[in-house]
Amino acid sequence: MTLLDKNLNPVELVASDTAHHLHPFTDHKSLHAEGGTRIITHARGAWLWDASGRKILDGMAGLWCVNIGYGRSELAEAAYRQMLDLPYYNTFFKTATVPSIALADKVASLMPDHINRVFFVNDGSEANDTIVRLVRHYFQLKGQPEKSVFISRRNAYHGSTMASASLGGMAAMHGQGGLPLPGFVHVDQPYWFGEGGDLDPEAFGLKAARAVEDEILRLGPENVAAFIGEPVQGAGGVIIPPDSYWPEINRICRKYGVLLIADEVICGFGRTGKWFGFETYGIEPDIVPMAKGLSSGYLPIGAVAISDEICDFVIENGGEFFHGYTYSGHPAACAVALENIRILEDEKLVEHVADIAPYFHEKLMTLADHPLVGEVRSVGLLGACELVRDKATRARFDPVGRVGLACRDHCFENGLIMRSCGDTMVLSPPFPITRDEVDEMVDLARAAFDSTLEDVK
Ligand code: PLP
Repeated sequence: MTLLDKNLNPVELVASDTAHHLHPFTDHKSLHAEGGTRIITHARGAWLWDASGRKILDGMAGLWCVNIGYGRSELAEAAYRQMLDLPYYNTFFKTATVPSIALADKVASLMPDHINRVFFVNDGSEANDTIVRLVRHYFQLKGQPEKSVFISRRNAYHGSTMASASLGGMAAMHGQGGLPLPGFVHVDQPYWFGEGGDLDPEAFGLKAARAVEDEILRLGPENVAAFIGEPVQGAGGVIIPPDSYWPEINRICRKYGVLLIADEVICGFGRTGKWFGFETYGIEPDIVPMAKGLSSGYLPIGAVAISDEICDFVIENGGEFFHGYTYSGHPAACAVALENIRILEDEKLVEHVADIAPYFHEKLMTLADHPLVGEVRSVGLLGACELVRDKATRARFDPVGRVGLACRDHCFENGLIMRSCGDTMVLSPPFPITRDEVDEMVDLARAAFDSTLEDVK
């Protein structure tokens, strides 16, 4: 018998959670002081309900992942059918399953022409760890073992494992556990509002891209394996790069023989209004990690799509790639991902994102006049409002993050999930969101900003 059989009330559930559950990215001391976790019990469309019966608009699609929205029974049925037929078999040692074959084929069909193979993993962190091992293996096979350094951006997020957190550029994460590992370096991000100074966005975009070139030259191109970037930095605060940034990154990577990795874990599967962020920004990737939107979060699955040039070389020259996860290509997760992609295609949900994006932007922009808001930006269904102490000078609150957290709590009290990245409040709602729900989301955000303003007065 488990607690699931006991039909506990919310107070008992919170008490048990407090006693037994160590949560990711959670300050437990303040959590306990505030009375424990908020327990989410069910969801439909863009809406969640908590254990006390409150209805909450999920402005974050979970953790940027429930792209098709909650409550799609087709995905549950796909998992159920697959579990009855074949709940598990692996893809190691020269075996495959029908769903893993079908999903590899489907993902390859969504990639540019020069990318035709995928390696399955369980999440975005494993996707990026896989890339580190694969890319280093590739250059070793090519007789260039010293070509092993990865360049990333400060404030990037690429996952929580040792290698993916090293790829990431989160100072708080690097402060714990001896990160980054050797062989990972970080340059400035294309964050015009925060770091652009007097430059116009396009000039700043070029400057930020050339920081990558400077770093390649400093390290020596013969030592640099790859550059990784999210088309739009998500967890860093929805950092939307100036249009000049990615074309210049393409040029630099090609010039110095540095592989280009577009981390599509958030942007992939429609978030920016096209199927992938590399389409929105004209990025020419060699490798594409993806997760989240691949299954809309219904089951854990991720993938790494790899160019023919790399994959063919590794296959021809590498023998066995000593890498893989028990659940690489899990049949139920693959079946769910296939059904998710079918829904995205049949219901034209990516087109819907492109269609509703201007309205989402227009409504978000109505928050720009709020005394706390320094900048509003959005692309597709990704949006951000920067909370600042002084709109004119863009001066931030000190310490950064406190006001954002207070605002996040006010949002929740008002019935809206909005995430704080430092003091940047971000949104990434499920795709089927309607115009009325966008209106409601923005009204709820404004009410939370008003309450936050009262706090800081
Ligand atoms: N890459 C990006 C861009 C992400 O946003 C995330 C998670 O938020 C990851 C990688 C890590 O993915 P996961 O949490 O599935 O390991």
